[in-house]
Amino acid sequence: MAQAEGSSDRTEGNALRAALDSAPQGYSVWDDEHRLVFFNQRYLDIYRFAPGTVRQGMTLAELSGLTVAVGNYPGMTADQLLARNLERFDAIRGGGPPLVSDKPVRGRLIRTSHSYTPGVGWVVIHDDVTDEIEHQWMADLQEKNLTTQSRRFEAALTNMPHGLSMYDAEGRLVICNDRYKQMYAMPEELCRPGTPFEDVAAVRKASGLVDIPGSDEFVSAVIEQGTAKNETVEAIRLPDGRIIAIRQAPMENGGFVRIHEDISAQVARFEKLRRAEAEAADQNRVLTRQNLRFDAAINNMTQGLCMFDKSEQLVVCNQRYAQIYNLPPELMRAGTTLGEIVAYRFAHGMVPISGRDQYLAGRKRLVTDGIEATDEIELEDGRTISIHHQPMPDGGWVATHEDVSEQRRIEARVRHLARHDALTDLPNRVYLREETRRIEGAIEREETVAVLCLDLDRFKDVNDTLGHGIGDQVLVTVANRLRACSREMDVVARLGGDEFAVLIPALEDPRDAATIAERVIRSVSEPMEIDGHQVAIGTSVGIALSPGDGSSIETLLKNADMALYRSKGEGRGNFHFFERGMDEALQHRRLLEQGLKVALARGELRLMYQPLVDLGSNRICCFEALLRWDHPQRGVISPTEFIPVAEESGLISSIGEWVLREACRVAAGWPDDIRVAVNLSPAQFKSRGLVGHVTRALAEAGLAAHRLELEVTESLLLADTEQTLETLHRLHGLGIRISMDDFGTGYSSLSYLRAFPFDKIKIDRSFIAGLAPGDGSAAIIRAVIGLGQSLGMATTAEGIETEAQLKAVREQGCNEVQGFLFSPPLPASSIPALLGRPMPHAPEDMPVPARA
Ligand code: C2E
Ligand code: CA
Ligand code: CA
Repeated sequence: MAQAEGSSDRTEGNALRAALDSAPQGYSVWDDEHRLVFFNQRYLDIYRFAPGTVRQGMTLAELSGLTVAVGNYPGMTADQLLARNLERFDAIRGGGPPLVSDKPVRGRLIRTSHSYTPGVGWVVIHDDVTDEIEHQWMADLQEKNLTTQSRRFEAALTNMPHGLSMYDAEGRLVICNDRYKQMYAMPEELCRPGTPFEDVAAVRKASGLVDIPGSDEFVSAVIEQGTAKNETVEAIRLPDGRIIAIRQAPMENGGFVRIHEDISAQVARFEKLRRAEAEAADQNRVLTRQNLRFDAAINNMTQGLCMFDKSEQLVVCNQRYAQIYNLPPELMRAGTTLGEIVAYRFAHGMVPISGRDQYLAGRKRLVTDGIEATDEIELEDGRTISIHHQPMPDGGWVATHEDVSEQRRIEARVRHLARHDALTDLPNRVYLREETRRIEGAIEREETVAVLCLDLDRFKDVNDTLGHGIGDQVLVTVANRLRACSREMDVVARLGGDEFAVLIPALEDPRDAATIAERVIRSVSEPMEIDGHQVAIGTSVGIALSPGDGSSIETLLKNADMALYRSKGEGRGNFHFFERGMDEALQHRRLLEQGLKVALARGELRLMYQPLVDLGSNRICCFEALLRWDHPQRGVISPTEFIPVAEESGLISSIGEWVLREACRVAAGWPDDIRVAVNLSPAQFKSRGLVGHVTRALAEAGLAAHRLELEVTESLLLADTEQTLETLHRLHGLGIRISMDDFGTGYSSLSYLRAFPFDKIKIDRSFIAGLAPGDGSAAIIRAVIGLGQSLGMATTAEGIETEAQLKAVREQGCNEVQGFLFSPPLPASSIPALLGRPMPHAPEDMPVPARA
């Protein structure tokens, strides 16, 4: 609505406008140039001007055209109307009383009052006086004698915008006006005075008129608005659809007067309005529902969502968004600026690791460039937030924020697990492959890179005897020691089993690799105490150096592994640099393993027997069974070469079983006082079937248990596990003799003697070989023999090759000897002949024994 000029104060202007809009009269104010300067709502209503058609600044000419166009003055042109109004304006310009006139407008009587106020202009007040005038006239009718009709009354009747009919006390028509006749298209005969009301009613009923019940909401609403109270009202619908409201008022003489008003247009308008309102309400309900649905949808999202307009003010955000940043409710309100939210986040520890400025600059760029993008932001509080930025056409944007910390943590964990060994957490082969680029980059820069390959010595024994639990702890301990030995830039990896590798980039001097290898060997070899067990293992190391031994990780690893193989072959606790030709050795080992798998089935294995001579009687008391493999291409292969392969491949179990049966079978053919000794590998104690294999071999051969000796090495007792000791005791309990083989090569040989009551100690041949006057070995041998005597254990000296050695061990009190001095291992077929003759090398004072 237009606003009165000069009303500068907004509030005051608003109040004035509201007051004028609800005024019962219409107002229009014109300036001296005949331009509309003010009008109110009632003015628009009276003349049925559609919203927006009447504007401030419109000329009188324009308005005259408009009001004629909407049909306010039928039969009058716009020019005529303009002329009439200009005439009026002129008439009152000089001042004086307002110019008042009544005009019918669309069935209503509108009274206009024109006045001129200097400084304001022409003020026209428009008043709907229809009801007022009708009341006046009806009152006049009621008062006046019907027979004395004044001219004024007649004129009034004719000019009335409504139909009128009047009946006397007998219900006969007195008079009706033209409007009434038109309204109902009344035949002339029914309009004559004296016509009974019933006749009129009957005719009209017959024409299809219907009474509208008082409950009709539209009709009653219209009547309610436009009619004075306390009058009888009925409403009817004519066959053509017009709706007529009828008011009836009694007269003093007993008659009554009826006013008929065509309210079709009002009802139709009202109905339309109502329908529009209802539709709007429906629309609202839909919108509200949509709103609710929208709210529910965004609040059920797993991601945080926020929408900002182009001035960086929040339009909407969801609960999850607030949760992620722990925003207080006041920062969730529409209109909150991005700056306020970001400041809050920063103030509460949610600062991106990349830094505040960088983060803000990044966000700004997205907004100004209007690009869609997804970024991940790592926060100082440890979380990772994935932000998707989606620009909107109007310059604002929608962003989703998702806390992906857990996801990323899991991914990182999985990635770590895939690239690390689960037990020791050392990098694995996958990691090494990934590191390849970095290391090979170093090689390309002509840095010396060393690769050390390690293999634990005796680890298999630890695992087999102490169990995997202890084995695992040994590996973890070794891993920690290796880590401690290396620099940060070095990579210590576990390649699998008991194999490790150390990658050393940027080596200053190739000779440093040897120093590092020595350090590694020393560190790993230090005894470790695990779960109350003293465990001692060692390691062998192979070294390959770039660029000579290879320029890729893969080649360096392969060559270091070959150098390692050489180290192991040369005795444990060694390191070796890679040399050309080593690959053949590895190739060889693989061939051995493949061949061994079929050796037993093909009958390529056989036993040789070496005698043990009792020094007391100078007679053979026992034969040790020693395995040989007749390889179809390579000839005879020594057990020192293939037994470790058999142990590692698991073939030892079936081979061992075969040795037991074969040795017992052969020994059963010897004299009763000759025993047989069989070597057992620790791996054979792993399978619970050992005792069964032994007893079956004895039973099958018919050999007495006391004629069998079983030789075990110290490594078996690295772990005095319940199971191992129990097996030993069960075998011992059967009457079988148990010998400790290779005594003195291990770490705590003496302590193992306490763990089990061995029948015999076999002193390793390395002590015998080193036996020379003044040598420490003599003292050791003397101590062992003394210990054996005090523990009730017999002693055998292995590897006797010379008379001097024999003399020495005999002097120390050794019980038995074995060695090339007497006999090398022989095939079974040679034994009877050997037993038939006396042993040489008897001391001079000993009589040569006679044999049957
Ligand atoms: P070992 O138990 O210490 O067996 C004695 C080894 O010393 C045999 O080597 C034998 O030929 C050798 N020897 C005997 N007298 C002398 C000597 O005077 N001087 C020198 N230098 N050596 C001598 P062989 O037969 O090559 O066996 C080597 C190892 O293989 C054995 O050592 C034993 O540990 C293992 N072995 C042999 N047969 C079997 C078997 O059936 N089962 C298991 N588990 N291991 C076996
Ligand atoms: Ca042996
Ligand atoms: Ca031995």
